[in-house]
Amino acid sequence: MVGIAIVSHSHTLAVGIRELAAQMAGDAVPIAIVADLGGPDTPLEVDAVKIYQAIAPIESDGVVVFADLGRAVAAAKRALELFPAARRCQIRLCAAPLAEGAIAAAVTAAGGAELDRVVAEAENAMTSKLAQLGAHDPPDSPPPEHFPTGQLHLTLDHSTGLHARPAAQLVKLAFQFESDITLENITARTAPVNAKSINQVIALGVRDGEEIAIAATGADAAAALEALRHLLTEELTSPNRSRVPQRLSSPPPDRSLRGIPAAGGIAIGPVMRCEPAAIHIETQHTEHPQREWEFLQRARDSSRAQMLDLHREIGQRCAVTDRVGSSEAAIFATHLLHLDDPTLMERARELIWEQHHTAAAAWKTAIEEVVATYEHLEDPLLRSRSADVWDVGRRVLQLLTGAEPVCLLLREPGILVAPELTPSEIAQLDPERVLGICTAAGCSISHSGILGRSLGIPMVVGVGPELLHLSGGTAIAIDGGTGQVWVDPHPDQIEELRRRRERQLATARDLRQAAQNPAVAADGHRLRVMANISGVAEARIAMQNGAEGVGILRSEFLFLARRRIPSEDEQVELYRAIANAIDPHPLGVRILDIGGDKPMPGISLPDEDNPFLGWRGIRLLLDRPDLLRAQLRALLRVGCDRPVKILFPMVARLQEIRAARDILTEEWENLRRQNVPLSEMPEVGAMVEVPAAALMAERLAAAVDFFSIGTNDLTQYAMAADRTNSKVAALTDALEPAVLRLVAETIAAAKRAGIWASVCGELAADPVAVPIWMGLGAHELSLNPQAIPMVKMTISRIRRDEAEAIAREALQLESAIAVRELVRSRLGLTINNC
Ligand code: PEP
Ligand code: MG
Repeated sequence: MVGIAIVSHSHTLAVGIRELAAQMAGDAVPIAIVADLGGPDTPLEVDAVKIYQAIAPIESDGVVVFADLGRAVAAAKRALELFPAARRCQIRLCAAPLAEGAIAAAVTAAGGAELDRVVAEAENAMTSKLAQLGAHDPPDSPPPEHFPTGQLHLTLDHSTGLHARPAAQLVKLAFQFESDITLENITARTAPVNAKSINQVIALGVRDGEEIAIAATGADAAAALEALRHLLTEELTSPNRSRVPQRLSSPPPDRSLRGIPAAGGIAIGPVMRCEPAAIHIETQHTEHPQREWEFLQRARDSSRAQMLDLHREIGQRCAVTDRVGSSEAAIFATHLLHLDDPTLMERARELIWEQHHTAAAAWKTAIEEVVATYEHLEDPLLRSRSADVWDVGRRVLQLLTGAEPVCLLLREPGILVAPELTPSEIAQLDPERVLGICTAAGCSISHSGILGRSLGIPMVVGVGPELLHLSGGTAIAIDGGTGQVWVDPHPDQIEELRRRRERQLATARDLRQAAQNPAVAADGHRLRVMANISGVAEARIAMQNGAEGVGILRSEFLFLARRRIPSEDEQVELYRAIANAIDPHPLGVRILDIGGDKPMPGISLPDEDNPFLGWRGIRLLLDRPDLLRAQLRALLRVGCDRPVKILFPMVARLQEIRAARDILTEEWENLRRQNVPLSEMPEVGAMVEVPAAALMAERLAAAVDFFSIGTNDLTQYAMAADRTNSKVAALTDALEPAVLRLVAETIAAAKRAGIWASVCGELAADPVAVPIWMGLGAHELSLNPQAIPMVKMTISRIRRDEAEAIAREALQLESAIAVRELVRSRLGLTINNC
């Protein structure tokens, strides 16, 4: 059924009209309302996005949009542009008066009419009212022969000139008028440029005190000129202006931000953005310009949709204040303006139609020309805006060429600042250049956080969108152990941080030396300390740091950076390289844990509302036996002369592990029949990371040789707290007594069944948690390689009976905070000295 959207400045008015329409048409017609629009300081895009989000869920059979006045109409128009072209024709902005139009439309839609009919009825709504009042139809006004034209001269009175932010305000305002509007820098004697092109307006480089001319041609030329005059002479003029140039988008010096500590260590350096990897364009010319032109438009639409999704995701993931939210929206809005810049599209169209360039070649040239214009600007801040153009341009180019969305080459060493990084992006970082990582969103136990930690790169996540305001090159420092971020730190502060970093590095060296010995508790009790790794480089780090083998190879990470799933033979090579790097120690390989926050190139995962509760781990593998069988065969082959163990992820039910084991046995027998060299059947374990598995550990223990307790997922599922969502980060603490009870039950069930149990989530690496795992009776800890020396040292200072008493008491406490206090009060000095 056709839906209705009511956009109004007044919530009461919108609700009232919806009520009236529902009374007349019944409740079946979907009616969305968007009210309480932002004020003059809120970017128009913010309202447009609200409208887009309200319309999107009801758009399937078309939507008629009624907007009351001025800003509501402009925002509704802009919202329409956010839809891909193919969907746009299903959404109609209706000029009918709000109440009459919405009611007529609702009644017609309720009767099952199609979109055109609903719009026509709404537009006719006034006719019957006029007839009822006995009024005559207003005479049709003849179409104007010549559009009015106007001009405006003024001197820019804005201390920073027409920089990105004021330029964006000007362009957005110009977009609200139908008229053609041009802008000219009289002082610099430039030619007039299109005032609806963000790139051209910025490139004019208008400075404070320079004279500009604005010309408008069109039906609303006078209104446009008046609005622009008002913007430039009233709104953009600061009463307390200073003649000292300010950096508009940078925060004031010496400012500090705070995020979530994700990987320890201090890093000091310039803000670096990702440098796009060169995108190779295979075909430069085409005989089918029409097809290429459509191709480009579709890529631009998809790119717009991706940006909207990203914006929504970051907004949801970061606990932001209104201030931060609106400034992030301003950056986002500017990116949309770059994407929709009419001159950019015009240039690409010209290249496609006149020079027969392919869509990718035309778009790349158009983007490069704009970037070159920026790079010739004198003002360094304006020059740095070329990064925004590249960012937007690259998205479209990736869609056009199918290039991998990977862009993590840093030109020089620095601190990588990004909205958020995916595990595959982190996996490809060059630790030589990336001194530290700082992201606006994210959580420490997300897979990106885990990877950052294993690479040993200091990392702070979940800082919030204001991080993204820092321009490239700004000096920052981060402390990945505390989550502190210093912007433009004072030289004294830098000196102090350098000293701290030196001390930390020296301690790390000493600990690494001591970690070459086995982990033995103060009373002689032995606990194996293994590494969680995701590739051969980490395997080497693990060995240097004293690992006694690999507890978990997160095998999916070996695949993430590839375009396709490696073949069985290629997998044999990959696993063998790692087994060799840790020889003669055991290698525990976790079978592919795809899904959740780990997409996999080459496997199309469905869009799921709750991916962590969806098609992940063993569930997916049992549905894709081709993947499972190839990986098992590869591991059995490597296991012929290397101590390989096999571990299944995300087990929730006994029959899953039984089914997986049956497939393993079948493959072992197949290989044996083919005379492939094999050893005995390897040890098989289940990850206990779903509460159901922990509660059924007694039964599960009979089906496996060992348990690996994944505290990251066990905590996420037990506490119902998404491990990637910074808003609920405080809940994802494995020391919550609820989680500890599940761990305790699992270890006890393992002991009763005579199998061994390992604790392997991120909390296996926390010195405060180590006494608890030891006290609960874990046989093994498996953790991020960087933390091994510290954990071994902690173990060496604790007695087992002491740890058991602490663990018993911890199970009776109320909260993770109380557990931490308990451990600190009993072992404070021991732990702090490690
Ligand atoms: C866990 O869930 O604790 C675990 C070790 O696996 P991952 O973090 O890879 O999900
Ligand atoms: Mg897990």
